[in-house]
Amino acid sequence: MSAQGTEPLVEIAGVTKRFGAVTAVDDVSLSIAPGEFFALLGPSGCGKTSLMRLIAGFETPDAGRVLIGGRDMAGVPPHRRPVNMLFQSYALFPHMSVEENIAFGLVQDRLPRHEIGERVLEMLRLVQLDGMSARRPDQLSGGQRQRVALARALAKRPSLVLLDEPLAALDRKLREDTQFELMRVQRELGTAFLIVTHDQDEAMVMANRIAVMRAGRIEQVGAPREIYDAPMSRWVSGFVGEINIFEAKIESSGEAPEMLNQGLAEPRICRLFLIDDGMARDLPCEEALVPGQEVALAVRPEKIALTPCDQGEHGLVGTVSDIAFRGETVLYRVQLRSGRIVRATRINEPGEGSAIARGDHVRVSFEAGAGRVLVR
Ligand code: ATP
Repeated sequence: MSAQGTEPLVEIAGVTKRFGAVTAVDDVSLSIAPGEFFALLGPSGCGKTSLMRLIAGFETPDAGRVLIGGRDMAGVPPHRRPVNMLFQSYALFPHMSVEENIAFGLVQDRLPRHEIGERVLEMLRLVQLDGMSARRPDQLSGGQRQRVALARALAKRPSLVLLDEPLAALDRKLREDTQFELMRVQRELGTAFLIVTHDQDEAMVMANRIAVMRAGRIEQVGAPREIYDAPMSRWVSGFVGEINIFEAKIESSGEAPEMLNQGLAEPRICRLFLIDDGMARDLPCEEALVPGQEVALAVRPEKIALTPCDQGEHGLVGTVSDIAFRGETVLYRVQLRSGRIVRATRINEPGEGSAIARGDHVRVSFEAGAGRVLVR
């Protein structure tokens, strides 16, 4: 789902937030559609939490506007926003039962008793904690505490739930189950979720759209597949997944002939000279590039093929320096003549591992459509 076509639920327009000399959020514009599962992804300190806190109303922007449901949130305190935040620590009340924790916001809002009772039951069912309503948080597992916090965040039926690294406290196995659990709940309710994470796998698994942040700015916004298959910069290509970067120079650039048209918005073809093998190749590219321009050719390791070849062959050839068994996949590291290391991964299928051995001389190849030409 994209934010196009529907009224955005959240609109962030040119928002900046400074803490002393640090610009935590730097002129960010972004919109989130109703019902979207949206992820803010980036390394530690890039400003994800600050941006989320600006939406929640715990911080005020130094510049720009935050609109929720078309309404400017300037001066609107957190508890008056149609938003609820699930904190990393869960922040459950230790002396209250599960039921009382979930009911807390509803009691504060003075909802009629029977309505509170119904809503709590509905939430308990939703997060599959029926029968545990009388327990206190210290009588629950980490995963169950997380679900109570989620139920509490959802009880007031907000239009948007903010989740700050919601799975950080869970172990790996439980994290996966909880990811699917959060997705199920989100689908069932149709509430928009905004999740903050530094874990690219987590963002890719759960979100409809991801905003990749770096140093207070948004580097790219798109569906997980778009970000992975068509990263806009070297930095994004390396942050989301593994990547091989080949330095290259543009020789020429022009309209693509039909045959090579890969369904790109602006089908163009550029001839680039790969520094590593000193050979030219034709690749699809999305913008007009200037001869002589220095670019990068980015290729994912799973798109690289290795075939045995003779010692003296020309082109993109090298020696297998390492082979690492990783369970699902096998990683091959190939040292090219230029010294550059190329990473290639193969699915661990029967027979894998017998074909290529350490020290073998191999040709490194990939299809034209597998390489992405990056200008920055
Ligand atoms: P993490 O994943 O580590 O939580 P983050 O991407 O969420 O990081 P923020 O917490 O938003 O990043 O912080 C962005 C920058 O702003 C950091 O340099 C941080 O030190 C700074 N910062 C955040 N909050 C404050 C504050 N209240 N006072 C001073 N500096 C702050």
